[in-house]
Amino acid sequence: MTSILNADLHCHSVVSDGTLTPEALAERASANGVELWALTDHDEIGGQHRAAAAARAHGMKYLTGTEVSITFAGQTVHILGLGIDPDDESMKQGLQQTRGGRGQRAMEMSDSLAKAGIAGAYEGALKFVSNPELVSRTHFARFLVESGVCRDTNEVFRKYLTEGKPGFVPHRWASLRDAVSWITQAGGVAVIAHPARYKFTPNEEYALFTEFKSHGGQGVEVVTGSHSAAEALVYADMAREFGLVASRGSDFHSPDESHTDLGTLPFLPGNLTPVWELLADRIQ
Ligand code: AMP
Ligand code: MN
Ligand code: MN
Ligand code: MN
Repeated sequence: MTSILNADLHCHSVVSDGTLTPEALAERASANGVELWALTDHDEIGGQHRAAAAARAHGMKYLTGTEVSITFAGQTVHILGLGIDPDDESMKQGLQQTRGGRGQRAMEMSDSLAKAGIAGAYEGALKFVSNPELVSRTHFARFLVESGVCRDTNEVFRKYLTEGKPGFVPHRWASLRDAVSWITQAGGVAVIAHPARYKFTPNEEYALFTEFKSHGGQGVEVVTGSHSAAEALVYADMAREFGLVASRGSDFHSPDESHTDLGTLPFLPGNLTPVWELLADRIQ
C-alpha cells in the first residue's frame, strides 16, 4: 500500500485519557477523511472491539492498537502496539499489571499538589475519569483547568505534573523488552511513539532504538501531532538508518485540547515503508 494514505494510527478515547467515546472518535475520523484508523488507548485495549465495530459502521479500515508506557533510562517512553490481537491473554495481563499503581500514584500526586496549595486534586481528577484503572496526569490537568489554576492543559504541563514541578510523581512502568514482546507475541508491530518528545542524550536515544530493534521492535512514529516538520524529517532519517517502518498518527485526545485533529497530518514521506504495509493482513 502506498504512503499516500490518510492513516491515523494514534488517538485516545475515554477508555484512557481522551474525552470522546470510541464511537464518537470513529465518526470524527471518518468525517475528517481518515481511511485507516487505530484507537491506541494508554495501557488499555478495552475499547478495541467497540472501535473496530464503529470503524466498520463508517466503512473505514481499522487496525487494533494500544500505547504502552515503559521506563527507559529513567524516562517514560511510549510504545505503540498496532495490529495486536485484543483478546491475547498475556497482552491483557501485561497491560493490567502496567495499569496497577496508577491509583496510588494519583494519591501521591494529589498530596504533592496539596503541598503546593492546591487542595482536593484527587477527587477533582476522578470526576474526569471514566476508567477507574486509568487515572492519568491528563485527568489532573483537566481538574487544574476547571478549578482556574491554569488556563489550559498546556500551561498545566509547563507548571505542574512534570519532572521537578509540583504534582510530579515518577512511576515505574513496564520494561522495553516486556512491552515489545507482549506486542509481537500478540501478532502486532511495536512502534516507538513520538520520539522527539523524549529528553534523551544522543547516546541514550541510540540505545533506545538499538535495544528496541534487538527486542523485535519494527517501527517508529515519524509524522505525529507531537512533531514539527523538521522533527519528522529527523525521524524519517532514523527510520531509514535503523531499518524501521514509519507510522503516522495525530495523538488526538479531545476537541477542546488537541491542536492536531484526527486525519489532518501531512502524509508520510514517500521514501519510507509505511507500517500498514507490514500489517496488511491485520487490517479489518
Ligand atoms: P500519565 O500516563 O499519567 O503519565 O499521563 C501522560 C499523559 O499526559 C500523556 O499521554 C498526555 O496525554 C499528557 N501529557 C504529558 N505531557 C504533556 C504535555 N507536555 N502537554 C500536554 N499533555 C501532556
Ligand atoms: Mn495521553
Ligand atoms: Mn504518548
Ligand atoms: Mn498518545
